[in-house]
Amino acid sequence: MSFFDKLSNSVSDTAKSLGKKSTDLMEVSKLKASIRKREEDIINLFEEMGQYVYGRLKRLNYISREELEGMLTKIERLEEEIKNLEKLILDIKRIKYCEHCEIEVEDDVRYCPLCGRSINK
Ligand SMILES: [Zn+2]
Repeated sequence: MSFFDKLSNSVSDTAKSLGKKSTDLMEVSKLKASIRKREEDIINLFEEMGQYVYGRLKRLNYISREELEGMLTKIERLEEEIKNLEKLILDIKRIKYCEHCEIEVEDDVRYCPLCGRSINK
């Protein structure tokens, strides 16, 4: 292989990996936008719940968990979705996360540098 072949190969490899990087970045920003959307939904549900609780307590001085069940379920579902979206982002960035001390580490790290526990994917 000539010098110029090698050069053009390495240039196209670089271009490929840059292309991958920019699709990754686009993917990550899309995922972040979906997370933000769900966080806003949660805030709206909190507000709705607060108004409902206030209204009930003001009029009847009583509220049961069952009345809030629908809203609670929605919030839990959104929180679960946010967790999954965050995991997807970490996968794309090739980053893992120590569940114990909540720091990010490189994908190939097996033990947390802070607490020494093993890190699971
Ligand atoms: Zn740790």
